[in-house]
Amino acid sequence: MLALVTGASKGIGRAITLELAKNGFDVAINYNRSENDALSLRDEVLKLGVNAEIFKADVSVQEEAAKMFADVKASPFGGTVSVLVNNAGITRDTLLMRMKPDDWLSVINTNLNAAFYCTQLAVKDMAKARYGRIISISSVVGLIGNAGQCNYSASKAGIIGFTKSVAREYAGRGITANAIAPGFIDTSMTDILKPEVKAEILKSIPAGRIGDAEEVARAVAFFASEKSSYITGQVLAVDGGMTMV
Ligand code: NAD
Repeated sequence: MLALVTGASKGIGRAITLELAKNGFDVAINYNRSENDALSLRDEVLKLGVNAEIFKADVSVQEEAAKMFADVKASPFGGTVSVLVNNAGITRDTLLMRMKPDDWLSVINTNLNAAFYCTQLAVKDMAKARYGRIISISSVVGLIGNAGQCNYSASKAGIIGFTKSVAREYAGRGITANAIAPGFIDTSMTDILKPEVKAEILKSIPAGRIGDAEEVARAVAFFASEKSSYITGQVLAVDGGMTMV
């Protein structure tokens, strides 16, 4: 079975790719910039005994996403993408009053529009196969908001509404759509935060620590498996208890 992971070359996407490979999936590795990282990830995946290939595309551009899906289909191990992981994401943090239209648009384009393009492209074949798993990476800030992240939290809340609607449209055709809402995870996205900001965030995490990308990846692998067949339209927080109610 083939899984496609967007923004796979580092961070959470990388961990997801490796976890899916460990679970026996062939993996299409999407990246947009760091070809060397994508190539070394491919080599690591191949060592696990499954197939892997890299596909360069800026998934926030519909034409590039469409070409990527066509290339995946035409690749030697390609065919139907059974599992799509919408992972590619960026931040452009600043307070609302300072946020430029470009800060807003680039985050919405990458975090939300890309998920629409890729999901629309993936469900065609999934519907024919009457099987599919769509997993989109949201965030706890899509649930509770965050000062300085109006653009990012709007994109991540959008992912949740989008996921639930896709789930309703395709539940009868063997396709599930679920979202993961990671909390504070140790990647380059959070590395850039100032120590005092990190310390403040840590206070709000009952587990008392930052999460690992692998902890998110294991939740994705569950939604990607056949075992999650009766679960759709859900949002699973992987956040050390940060958002529990
Ligand atoms: P990261 O910056 O390490 O990885 C993001 C990846 O997305 C990179 O490989 C980047 O090249 C890729 N990407 C960005 N724009 C792209 C585009 N247009 N086309 C293709 N690829 C693109 O960050 P991460 O922490 O691994 O983030 C992965 C996902 O998890 C993102 O959606 C992020 O919003 C989400 N998330 C992260 C955290 C966290 O604490 N790190 C928390 C909640 C949600």
